Amino acid sequence: MELLTIGAFARASRLSPKALRLYDELELLRPAQVDPASGYRFYHPEQLERARLVAWLRRLGMPLVRIRRVLELEPDLAADEVAGYWAQVMAETAARQDLAAFLVDHLKGRDTTMNSTPTALRIRYAARSDAGLVRARNDDTAYAGTRLVAVADGMGAQGGGDRASAAAIEALKQLDHQPPAGDLLNALEEAVARADASVAGLARSEPELPGLGTTLTAMLWSGSQLALVHIGDSRAYLLRDGELFQITHDHTLVQSMVDEGRLTLDEAASHPQRALLIRALTGGGTRPDLSLHTARAGDRYLLCSDGLSAVVPGDRLHTVLSTVADPEQVVQQLVELANRNGGPDNIACALADVTAESPS
Ligand code: MG
Repeated sequence: MELLTIGAFARASRLSPKALRLYDELELLRPAQVDPASGYRFYHPEQLERARLVAWLRRLGMPLVRIRRVLELEPDLAADEVAGYWAQVMAETAARQDLAAFLVDHLKGRDTTMNSTPTALRIRYAARSDAGLVRARNDDTAYAGTRLVAVADGMGAQGGGDRASAAAIEALKQLDHQPPAGDLLNALEEAVARADASVAGLARSEPELPGLGTTLTAMLWSGSQLALVHIGDSRAYLLRDGELFQITHDHTLVQSMVDEGRLTLDEAASHPQRALLIRALTGGGTRPDLSLHTARAGDRYLLCSDGLSAVVPGDRLHTVLSTVADPEQVVQQLVELANRNGGPDNIACALADVTAESPS
């Protein structure tokens, strides 16, 4: 078969020569031949299918690193990858839609909690923390109350991680007892600043305990709104309409390498430095991720430390979360699952079920 010039191939694939040159540079689609004298690129007609697939995936908005992954897969697995990408886009879009709806109401001065929710939303909750089967000490802390759920995974080179995680959660607890008067996110951000100051105070009073710090993932409810704060590699998941979404982003070295396309998710899971944090609460004033969400009756939120998420696969989490009704039983079973998988790390879980029950 005769090779096509880049112009002819561009017309046939409905891509521009400029796009084809970019895909060549990115190694998504190499020309079959390059003229050594002129540098002209030539393509084989059989490359048309790959070129069209690249163009379609671009139209879908898929990032280049992910397109490269799809191209490496067999058609069945490539289909799964595209479906997975789209599910992620939909979840992110839904979260943005909630935020947009909130902002529209907020800017118009409407109180969404009064208008859209005739019955106040409440949460049913449970929390549990366990040392696991390998560690002598438990540095994780979990908390659940009527307005607040939180997990923290403490660290310290010579110990003290347990006190760092407990101090961080203690600083947040007053939000549970006293609903914030003003903006939910501001209240949570201020509480995290207090938590950070507690860790700093602990580090000052215990100079023999270097490297003190903690992760912190917490949620605070008010009406139908919830504010989420997150720093480190503990996680928050949402089970909604039968689907499980991870709604936090790990602040780890390997996750940043995945984001840059330098590691795949599978490689990250077994990477020797997978636990290396790039952000944590260490008393130095690091800013956490903060976001506002609209809770719905029927939502189930799980917060957990890496002692659960690193050893229990997502599909097992999904099964337990979607089949076990009682929050206490859920956290108990999740801890048991982590321990059945070796329990190599401390485990913290906090669960919140959003219900439309009126106060009893
Ligand atoms: Mg841990």
